[in-house]
Amino acid sequence: MDRYTIVARKDELSLSLKEALKEKLDSHLIWDTLHPQLVISIGGDGTMLESVHTYLREGASFVGLHTGTLGFFTDYKREEVDQLVSDILKKEYRFENRNLLDVNVYYNQEKRHYYALNEVRFDHGFMAQVMDVYINGELLETFRGNGVCVSTPSGSTAYNKSLGGAIIYPGQPLMQLTEVAGIGHNAYRSLGSSLILTDKQVICLKGKDLKNISVDHLSYSFDHVDKIEISLSSKVVPFIEYRQLSFIQRIRRAFIYE
Ligand code: NAD
Repeated sequence: MDRYTIVARKDELSLSLKEALKEKLDSHLIWDTLHPQLVISIGGDGTMLESVHTYLREGASFVGLHTGTLGFFTDYKREEVDQLVSDILKKEYRFENRNLLDVNVYYNQEKRHYYALNEVRFDHGFMAQVMDVYINGELLETFRGNGVCVSTPSGSTAYNKSLGGAIIYPGQPLMQLTEVAGIGHNAYRSLGSSLILTDKQVICLKGKDLKNISVDHLSYSFDHVDKIEISLSSKVVPFIEYRQLSFIQRIRRAFIYE
């Protein structure tokens, strides 16, 4: 991995760490913003999402340095720049492959494809949406409420967790369908709990209200959507692990105590 680039959040600290890191790495590696093999993300989890969406299709691998508290996609803290440089130059690492979702939006006889690292969500804050939810072609429910979220194991600790969904151990080929404020009374009823599915299932959503789609940190609008299909992708995102930080340690630090 000799060609590298850095994606930094646009704040003073992240930009100054970018310059410091670049100065230390430039005499050893080749700076390449078009086709990097290694992408170093400096900022928060949102910066890593941006890095992945920019360079995923280039076949890059990713490592993150956090300029806030320890994030879910970032293994190094701001004071560990020298450690990161030394680990990169030592070239001893393993990959942690993170699952992605394939999201196919069918509209006006066309199809748009997106990858999601955290989740894809269809939610509307002030108008109830109605959508039919099919699993492998079988109708599960007609959902009414703010919307639904489909997340990967990586995304299970993000928006999904705020919705009351389960945290899923990383590396499992699973996806989770979680409701966003589903209406539940004797006229309208949906499952009410989140549903964990495997790489053998395809979720299909249909309904005239499906217009706004969020994929990780990105949002898209469509006039008329025929259907949306979501499944686990065969493509994964390679995260580089120069050192091991257990998942239990990560969730303890993030959600229970530092
Ligand atoms: P951002 O970077 O400000 O992220 C929002 C928060 O979500 C941050 O605290 C970030 O650390 C956290 N986050 C992101 N991915 C995470 C993950 N995999 N595990 C645990 N925490 C994670 O906002 P952005 O740039 O728009 O990033 C988009 C992501 O933010 C979305 O994918 C969504 O999951 C998350 N988000 C969460 C909520 C919520 O929990 N209510 C609301 C909006 C967005």
